[in-house]
Amino acid sequence: MQLSISRLSKTYANGVHALDNVNLEIRKGMFGLLGPNGAGKSSLMRTVATLQKPDSGEISFGEIDVLKDPFSLRKVLGYLPQEFGVYPNFSAEDLLDYFAQLKGISQKTDRQKLIQEVLEITNLWEVRKKHVSGYSGGMKQRFGIAQLLLNNPQLIIVDEPTAGLDPAERHRFLNVLREIGANHTVIFSTHIVDDVRELCHEIGILNGGKVLFRGTPSQGEAEL
Ligand code: ADP
Ligand code: ADP
Repeated sequence: MQLSISRLSKTYANGVHALDNVNLEIRKGMFGLLGPNGAGKSSLMRTVATLQKPDSGEISFGEIDVLKDPFSLRKVLGYLPQEFGVYPNFSAEDLLDYFAQLKGISQKTDRQKLIQEVLEITNLWEVRKKHVSGYSGGMKQRFGIAQLLLNNPQLIIVDEPTAGLDPAERHRFLNVLREIGANHTVIFSTHIVDDVRELCHEIGILNGGKVLFRGTPSQGEAEL
Protein backbone atom coordinates (compact mmCIF):
# COMPACT_ATOMS: atom_id res chain seq x y z
CA MET A 1 0.00 0.00 0.00
CA GLN A 2 1.08 3.52 -0.70
CA LEU A 3 1.67 6.29 1.83
CA SER A 4 0.91 9.76 0.48
CA ILE A 5 1.98 12.85 2.34
CA SER A 6 0.79 16.18 0.95
CA ARG A 7 1.52 19.75 1.90
CA LEU A 8 2.40 18.78 5.46
CA SER A 9 3.53 21.67 7.69
CA LYS A 10 4.30 22.02 11.36
CA THR A 11 5.62 25.00 13.30
CA TYR A 12 6.38 24.39 16.97
CA ALA A 13 5.43 26.89 19.69
CA ASN A 14 9.04 28.17 19.70
CA GLY A 15 8.65 29.24 16.07
CA VAL A 16 10.73 26.42 14.51
CA HIS A 17 9.33 25.34 11.12
CA ALA A 18 9.99 21.63 11.57
CA LEU A 19 7.94 20.64 8.49
CA ASP A 20 7.50 23.07 5.64
CA ASN A 21 5.10 21.92 2.92
CA VAL A 22 6.35 18.31 2.76
CA ASN A 23 5.12 16.18 -0.17
CA LEU A 24 6.13 12.52 -0.45
CA GLU A 25 4.76 9.38 -2.10
CA ILE A 26 6.11 6.23 -0.51
CA ARG A 27 5.56 2.83 -2.09
CA LYS A 28 6.14 -0.71 -0.84
CA GLY A 29 9.75 -1.48 0.03
CA MET A 30 12.47 0.39 1.89
CA PHE A 31 12.25 4.16 1.86
CA GLY A 32 15.14 6.02 3.46
CA LEU A 33 14.57 9.43 5.02
CA LEU A 34 17.87 11.21 5.19
CA GLY A 35 18.87 14.52 6.69
CA PRO A 36 21.09 16.18 9.28
CA ASN A 37 20.08 16.57 12.91
CA GLY A 38 17.20 18.99 13.19
CA ALA A 39 16.05 18.41 9.59
CA GLY A 40 12.56 17.37 10.71
CA LYS A 41 12.86 13.59 10.31
CA SER A 42 11.45 12.71 13.75
CA SER A 43 8.71 15.32 13.41
CA LEU A 44 7.65 13.76 10.11
CA MET A 45 7.74 10.22 11.49
CA ARG A 46 5.86 11.10 14.67
CA THR A 47 3.22 12.84 12.56
CA VAL A 48 2.77 9.85 10.24
CA ALA A 49 2.68 7.58 13.30
CA THR A 50 -0.21 9.75 14.63
CA LEU A 51 1.72 10.79 17.74
CA GLN A 52 1.44 14.48 16.90
CA LYS A 53 -0.74 16.61 14.66
CA PRO A 54 0.51 18.82 11.86
CA ASP A 55 -0.74 22.39 11.40
CA SER A 56 -1.90 21.56 7.89
CA GLY A 57 -1.64 18.93 5.20
CA GLU A 58 -2.93 15.46 4.44
CA ILE A 59 -1.69 11.90 4.93
CA SER A 60 -3.21 8.76 3.48
CA PHE A 61 -2.16 5.13 3.63
CA GLY A 62 -4.10 3.11 1.06
CA GLU A 63 -7.73 3.93 1.84
CA ILE A 64 -6.99 5.31 5.31
CA ASP A 65 -7.22 9.07 5.87
CA VAL A 66 -4.58 9.09 8.60
CA LEU A 67 -5.29 12.48 10.19
CA LYS A 68 -9.07 11.90 10.29
CA ASP A 69 -8.90 8.27 11.36
CA PRO A 70 -5.71 7.64 13.36
CA PHE A 71 -7.10 4.45 14.94
CA SER A 72 -7.30 2.67 11.60
CA LEU A 73 -3.68 3.54 10.91
CA ARG A 74 -2.53 2.36 14.36
CA LYS A 75 -4.01 -1.09 13.66
CA VAL A 76 -1.68 -1.57 10.70
CA LEU A 77 1.33 0.38 11.98
CA GLY A 78 4.58 -0.79 13.50
CA TYR A 79 6.56 2.10 14.99
CA LEU A 80 10.00 1.93 16.56
CA PRO A 81 10.81 5.27 18.20
CA GLN A 82 14.29 6.66 18.48
CA GLU A 83 14.74 6.06 22.19
CA PHE A 84 15.93 2.70 23.43
CA GLY A 85 13.24 0.79 25.28
CA VAL A 86 13.56 0.04 28.96
CA TYR A 87 12.61 -3.57 29.45
CA PRO A 88 11.68 -5.58 32.53
CA ASN A 89 13.82 -8.57 33.50
CA PHE A 90 12.20 -11.04 31.15
CA SER A 91 13.76 -13.23 28.51
CA ALA A 92 13.04 -12.23 24.91
CA GLU A 93 10.71 -15.17 24.38
CA ASP A 94 8.80 -14.61 27.62
CA LEU A 95 8.38 -10.91 26.87
CA LEU A 96 7.14 -11.63 23.34
CA ASP A 97 4.79 -14.26 24.75
CA TYR A 98 3.42 -11.63 27.10
CA PHE A 99 2.89 -9.15 24.24
CA ALA A 100 1.27 -11.85 22.12
CA GLN A 101 -1.14 -12.59 24.99
CA LEU A 102 -1.95 -8.87 25.26
CA LYS A 103 -2.80 -9.02 21.58
CA GLY A 104 -5.29 -11.75 22.46
CA ILE A 105 -3.59 -14.77 20.90
CA SER A 106 -4.91 -17.36 23.33
CA GLN A 107 -3.44 -20.58 21.88
CA LYS A 108 0.07 -21.26 23.16
CA THR A 109 1.04 -23.08 19.95
CA ASP A 110 -0.08 -20.09 17.85
CA ARG A 111 2.04 -17.78 19.99
CA GLN A 112 5.06 -20.10 19.81
CA LYS A 113 4.89 -20.25 16.04
CA LEU A 114 4.65 -16.46 15.68
CA ILE A 115 7.39 -15.82 18.25
CA GLN A 116 9.78 -18.21 16.55
CA GLU A 117 9.07 -16.50 13.24
CA VAL A 118 9.79 -12.96 14.51
CA LEU A 119 12.87 -14.08 16.46
CA GLU A 120 14.28 -15.77 13.36
CA ILE A 121 13.66 -12.72 11.14
CA THR A 122 15.47 -10.51 13.67
CA ASN A 123 18.28 -12.99 14.25
CA LEU A 124 17.54 -13.32 17.96
CA TRP A 125 16.44 -16.95 18.08
CA GLU A 126 19.77 -18.09 19.55
CA VAL A 127 19.53 -15.56 22.38
CA ARG A 128 15.81 -15.92 23.09
CA LYS A 129 16.44 -17.17 26.66
CA LYS A 130 18.52 -14.13 27.61
CA HIS A 131 17.05 -11.13 29.40
CA VAL A 132 16.30 -8.26 27.01
CA SER A 133 17.50 -5.82 29.68
CA GLY A 134 20.98 -7.31 29.22
CA TYR A 135 20.96 -7.08 25.41
CA SER A 136 23.36 -4.74 23.61
CA GLY A 137 21.97 -1.62 21.93
CA GLY A 138 21.78 -3.36 18.57
CA MET A 139 20.06 -6.44 19.99
CA LYS A 140 17.52 -4.20 21.71
CA GLN A 141 16.80 -2.45 18.41
CA ARG A 142 16.28 -5.83 16.74
CA PHE A 143 14.05 -6.88 19.63
CA GLY A 144 12.02 -3.70 19.00
CA ILE A 145 11.51 -4.91 15.43
CA ALA A 146 10.53 -8.41 16.64
CA GLN A 147 7.99 -6.84 18.97
CA LEU A 148 6.38 -4.69 16.29
CA LEU A 149 6.28 -7.62 13.83
CA LEU A 150 3.96 -9.47 16.26
CA ASN A 151 1.19 -7.14 15.04
CA ASN A 152 1.76 -8.06 11.41
CA PRO A 153 1.97 -4.36 10.46
CA GLN A 154 1.59 -3.11 6.88
CA LEU A 155 3.48 0.11 7.50
CA ILE A 156 6.69 0.10 9.52
CA ILE A 157 8.35 3.31 10.73
CA VAL A 158 11.80 3.14 12.28
CA ASP A 159 13.39 6.34 13.58
CA GLU A 160 17.22 6.54 13.48
CA PRO A 161 17.66 2.87 14.41
CA THR A 162 21.39 2.73 13.70
CA ALA A 163 22.38 5.77 15.77
CA GLY A 164 24.83 4.64 18.43
CA LEU A 165 25.36 1.14 17.02
CA ASP A 166 28.84 -0.15 16.26
CA PRO A 167 29.53 -1.18 12.62
CA ALA A 168 28.90 -4.91 13.15
CA GLU A 169 25.59 -4.33 14.93
CA ARG A 170 24.64 -1.74 12.33
CA HIS A 171 25.10 -4.27 9.53
CA ARG A 172 23.14 -6.89 11.42
CA PHE A 173 20.32 -4.41 11.92
CA LEU A 174 20.30 -3.29 8.26
CA ASN A 175 20.11 -6.94 7.15
CA VAL A 176 16.98 -7.39 9.25
CA LEU A 177 15.42 -4.27 7.71
CA ARG A 178 16.33 -5.50 4.22
CA GLU A 179 14.43 -8.71 4.87
CA ILE A 180 11.27 -7.02 6.13
CA GLY A 181 11.46 -4.37 3.38
CA ALA A 182 10.84 -7.15 0.84
CA ASN A 183 7.17 -7.39 1.82
CA HIS A 184 6.32 -4.26 3.82
CA THR A 185 6.30 -0.51 3.38
CA VAL A 186 9.20 0.56 5.58
CA ILE A 187 10.26 4.15 6.28
CA PHE A 188 13.54 4.44 8.01
CA SER A 189 15.31 7.64 9.01
CA THR A 190 19.02 8.10 9.38
CA HIS A 191 21.76 10.69 9.11
CA ILE A 192 24.20 8.01 7.87
CA VAL A 193 24.38 8.15 4.07
CA ASP A 194 25.79 4.63 3.75
CA ASP A 195 22.69 3.18 5.45
CA VAL A 196 20.49 4.25 2.53
CA ARG A 197 23.01 3.40 -0.19
CA GLU A 198 22.99 -0.15 1.08
CA LEU A 199 19.32 -0.89 1.27
CA CYS A 200 16.85 1.71 0.06
CA HIS A 201 15.20 1.66 -3.36
CA GLU A 202 14.12 5.24 -2.78
CA ILE A 203 15.21 8.08 -0.58
CA GLY A 204 14.02 11.49 0.50
CA ILE A 205 16.40 14.14 1.74
CA LEU A 206 15.00 16.53 4.30
CA ASN A 207 16.62 19.77 5.43
CA GLY A 208 15.10 22.62 7.37
CA GLY A 209 11.72 20.88 7.14
CA LYS A 210 11.77 20.83 3.32
CA VAL A 211 12.20 17.90 0.93
CA LEU A 212 15.36 18.72 -1.04
CA PHE A 213 15.38 15.54 -3.09
CA ARG A 214 13.35 12.43 -3.73
CA GLY A 215 14.43 9.56 -5.97
CA THR A 216 16.76 6.59 -6.08
CA PRO A 217 20.00 6.68 -4.08
CA SER A 218 22.01 6.75 -7.32
CA GLN A 219 20.01 9.68 -8.73
CA GLY A 220 20.58 11.45 -5.45
CA GLU A 221 24.30 10.75 -5.33
CA ALA A 222 25.14 14.41 -5.96
CA GLU A 223 23.04 15.44 -2.98
CA LEU A 224 24.44 12.83 -0.60
P1 ADP B 1 15.49 15.36 13.19
O1 ADP B 1 14.72 14.15 13.59
O2 ADP B 1 15.77 15.41 11.72
O3 ADP B 1 16.71 15.59 14.01
P2 ADP B 1 13.36 16.86 14.50
O4 ADP B 1 12.06 16.59 13.83
O5 ADP B 1 13.65 16.18 15.77
O6 ADP B 1 14.53 16.63 13.43
O7 ADP B 1 13.48 18.43 14.75
C1 ADP B 1 13.23 19.42 13.73
C2 ADP B 1 13.33 20.81 14.37
O8 ADP B 1 12.25 20.99 15.28
C3 ADP B 1 14.59 21.00 15.19
O9 ADP B 1 14.98 22.37 15.06
C4 ADP B 1 14.14 20.71 16.60
O10 ADP B 1 14.92 21.40 17.54
C5 ADP B 1 12.71 21.21 16.59
N1 ADP B 1 11.83 20.46 17.50
C6 ADP B 1 11.61 19.14 17.51
N2 ADP B 1 10.69 18.79 18.42
C7 ADP B 1 10.30 19.96 19.01
C8 ADP B 1 9.37 20.29 20.02
N3 ADP B 1 8.62 19.36 20.62
N4 ADP B 1 9.25 21.60 20.38
C9 ADP B 1 9.98 22.55 19.77
N5 ADP B 1 10.87 22.31 18.80
C10 ADP B 1 11.04 21.03 18.42
P1 ADP C 1 26.12 -2.50 20.45
O1 ADP C 1 26.80 -3.65 21.12
O2 ADP C 1 24.94 -2.88 19.66
O3 ADP C 1 27.04 -1.55 19.78
P2 ADP C 1 26.00 -1.04 22.94
O4 ADP C 1 25.36 -1.72 24.08
O5 ADP C 1 27.49 -0.95 22.86
O6 ADP C 1 25.40 -1.67 21.60
O7 ADP C 1 25.37 0.42 22.86
C1 ADP C 1 25.60 1.29 21.81
C2 ADP C 1 25.31 2.69 22.28
O8 ADP C 1 23.94 2.78 22.70
C3 ADP C 1 26.14 3.08 23.49
O9 ADP C 1 26.49 4.45 23.38
C4 ADP C 1 25.20 2.86 24.67
O10 ADP C 1 25.47 3.76 25.72
C5 ADP C 1 23.85 3.16 24.04
N1 ADP C 1 22.82 2.37 24.70
C6 ADP C 1 22.73 1.03 24.77
N2 ADP C 1 21.65 0.66 25.46
C7 ADP C 1 21.02 1.80 25.84
C8 ADP C 1 19.84 2.09 26.59
N3 ADP C 1 19.09 1.14 27.10
N4 ADP C 1 19.52 3.38 26.76
C9 ADP C 1 20.27 4.35 26.25
N5 ADP C 1 21.40 4.15 25.54
C10 ADP C 1 21.77 2.89 25.34
